[in-house]
Amino acid sequence: QLKAAQPAWAKFPLERRINILKRFSELLAEHIEQLAAILTAEVGKPLQQSRNEVNGARARIQWLTDQAPRYLGEEEMSRDEKMAEVIRYEPLGVVCNISAWNYPYLVGTNVFVPALLAGNAVMYKPSEYSTLTGLQIERLLKLAGVPDEVFQVAIGGKEVGEILLTTDFDGYYFTGSYKTGQYIYEKVAPKMVPCQCELGGKDPLYVADDISDIAAVAAGTADGAFYNNGQSCCAVERIYVHEKVYDAYVKEFVKEVKSWKLGLPTEAGVYIGPLSRASQVQFLENQIDEAKSKGAVVLTGGKRVAGKGYFFEPTVLVNVNHQMEIMREESFGPVIGIMKVSGDEEAIQLMKDTAYGLTAAVYSRDEKRATDILAQVDAGTGYWNCCDRVSAALPWSGRGHSGFGATLSHAGLRAFTKPKSYHLRKA
Ligand code: NAD
Repeated sequence: QLKAAQPAWAKFPLERRINILKRFSELLAEHIEQLAAILTAEVGKPLQQSRNEVNGARARIQWLTDQAPRYLGEEEMSRDEKMAEVIRYEPLGVVCNISAWNYPYLVGTNVFVPALLAGNAVMYKPSEYSTLTGLQIERLLKLAGVPDEVFQVAIGGKEVGEILLTTDFDGYYFTGSYKTGQYIYEKVAPKMVPCQCELGGKDPLYVADDISDIAAVAAGTADGAFYNNGQSCCAVERIYVHEKVYDAYVKEFVKEVKSWKLGLPTEAGVYIGPLSRASQVQFLENQIDEAKSKGAVVLTGGKRVAGKGYFFEPTVLVNVNHQMEIMREESFGPVIGIMKVSGDEEAIQLMKDTAYGLTAAVYSRDEKRATDILAQVDAGTGYWNCCDRVSAALPWSGRGHSGFGATLSHAGLRAFTKPKSYHLRKA
């Protein structure tokens, strides 16, 4: 069905596809309360964070639709009286998007919006933990005018994913864990079609000794570590602090974490809701126990909350080191390790000591000092005095175990196309 319908979709003028996706964005705004309620019910994120996510997706759609004519249109590279050299960006055909549950609107938008804009048909597999959101996305895309046969949803978990891997698609775009990404990449390699993997991270953040407002830095970086319960691919996962500001920073950081309200995600003012599944609660407890057995000290939190629901106390650990899983493997939860360092050199060595490479952050008053450090860390994104942030205008891409390929930006618009070169000589 998708294969049969795709050529007609690709023949629509780009302007028409842009208008349909703009309409989709309007529909997201019109239905935001219902969509946020469904998302919160499925994944447990506080209602306001669900609204923020839908609005974040709308901002990305705005950028992608605004920029589509510039990056998907024909490009003339040179022309003289005799010869013109031109690039046209053709759609791949039917692409398969296997997606994650933690930000279904955002990570979905990164893939199916530019894929549809470029003239592809899409098979979208939401995570089994955000199925209802996946179905809402389908409903609103169709309401906006995407033809029925151009966007389809595959409902289910791993088993359904496996079927998609053995089906004939023209490209695979995966968002999820390193383990699954590596498996998918190996599995689809013989097909010789494009495959992109946006995977997890163990993103480091360094606080230098020249920061001026320690309380503000502590609050901002704590949010970077704990927003969405730490279940963000680019959540801050490990923090290194210059010894000169370490004590003051840790004190302010813990104060901030202790100020948050934990509770039902539908209640106003709640910042920490439940985790999405039981296995994650156990996983975090294991990481914390392992760290404690090697000398880590818990300053706040450290365990699940008794009673109903998968609630976990936001946890801050110090006395940590790189022999501990908590500083090496993605936690993907409300847990952070903070380590004291003697200066920039030690911080750089520790930031680099990872198999992942999604983002890295430096807080300092000195831009050059920060960007010199960031240049040495092999990550797709560098942040100066900010963190846990994604911009539609910039490529979103990982390195190493964080994956490869890019979404968003000009690179992400063109990721769903194949360039065709035309050498046009006048007879
Ligand atoms: P996951 O790897 O468990 O699942 C992702 C998707 O893969 C789901 O739809 C799942 O059903 C499917 N899947 C699982 N096994 C499969 C198989 N054998 N064959 C085919 N499909 C299969 O990941 P998750 O728990 O949904 O998401 C969390 C992870 O995603 C974290 O590691 C997070 O950092 C990462 N993530 C990365 C980004 C990014 O942009 N880099 C964004 C969001 C999440």
